[in-house]
Amino acid sequence: MKILKGLFFLICCFSLNVYSKNVHVKVLSQYNAKKVVLNAFSDNYSIALADDKILKISEGDIIVINAIGNSCSISKNGDLLGSYASIDLSSLASHPYFKMQMILPSMKTTFYQDNMKFTSNDSKLSIINDVELNHYVAGVIESEIGNIKNDELLKVQAVISRTYALKHIDRHKAEGFELCDQVHCQVYHGKARFNNMILPAVDSTHYEVIQDENGDLIEAVFHANCGGQTVNSEDVWSKKRTYLRSVVDTFCTTEKQARWVKEIDKQKWLNFISTKSGKATSNPCEFSNEFRLIKIPCADVFTEDMRDEFRLRSTFFSVRETQDKVILNGRGFGHGVGMCQEGSIRQAKLGINYKAVIMFYYANIQIVNIEI
Ligand SMILES: [Zn+2]
Ligand SMILES: [Zn+2]
Repeated sequence: MKILKGLFFLICCFSLNVYSKNVHVKVLSQYNAKKVVLNAFSDNYSIALADDKILKISEGDIIVINAIGNSCSISKNGDLLGSYASIDLSSLASHPYFKMQMILPSMKTTFYQDNMKFTSNDSKLSIINDVELNHYVAGVIESEIGNIKNDELLKVQAVISRTYALKHIDRHKAEGFELCDQVHCQVYHGKARFNNMILPAVDSTHYEVIQDENGDLIEAVFHANCGGQTVNSEDVWSKKRTYLRSVVDTFCTTEKQARWVKEIDKQKWLNFISTKSGKATSNPCEFSNEFRLIKIPCADVFTEDMRDEFRLRSTFFSVRETQDKVILNGRGFGHGVGMCQEGSIRQAKLGINYKAVIMFYYANIQIVNIEI
């Protein structure tokens, strides 16, 4: 039997190629969840308990799962059914969903789709949502951009979020799941429920992802606003990526995050330039530039280091001196690498096709369908 199971697993692995249609996302990952309550909305769920018992769930049933040591106790409609090493909630139909509320500690209700696995370690629940990739991507989009109703923009986000997820699918391998539900991977608060344009946009991009010229998934990084010019990856991070090239972007320059101003104590500014450049200076380095600079013009100091030190919104700024201050007039918000979100929103509102938007911000790429 074991050999047969092994063979089945191998056949599945090869026929599913490298991409599985489901992803395994640890949910409520920032909490020490101890107790949760579940309700299904149809008769389309069953629960597999570790001793091969199958528990059929009907609409309206209340299931409580409680972490006790390294086991999970389960009760249905108030009747305690036992304690198990793992509890698997499995969907019997194609797209059902259920409601889950953490009650220890208390938190608002969330809705999840597809399957869920519960285990306990030291009286803390580990809850893994085994969710269809497109359901996950739709949930991420709603968690990250909420109620924006622009079809092309939702498609841009779908392709980017899917690419990002698959690129980072091994991040939590050693911990027994693939992605967490926090900003470390992508924020995911479960099923997309409020914006009914999201799922059709996700489905219409099928299984499209972004690959570089070698056929590898790209790091689909983005930021809020580039201020009019994005940055080469090597100017912010150590690695050069052929698809993360600086582009001039006129779409974001009048958007919300396009401009900023910051005053800094002149002495602190001078001290920093002196320390970083290794030469004492009393020149605060006034400059004005239409393009983003990697280093300030009069000293060997990176604008990226200045951004870190003075908590600047971006590395795109000019400098003006006053009596005891320097005034920075800045542009954009974020690291400036990859896609500019406000620029992409503007492009989508102008009716530019989602593929053209993606190709504007990422160089030397191809958008391919990996559907299996
Ligand atoms: Zn993560
Ligand atoms: Zn921009």
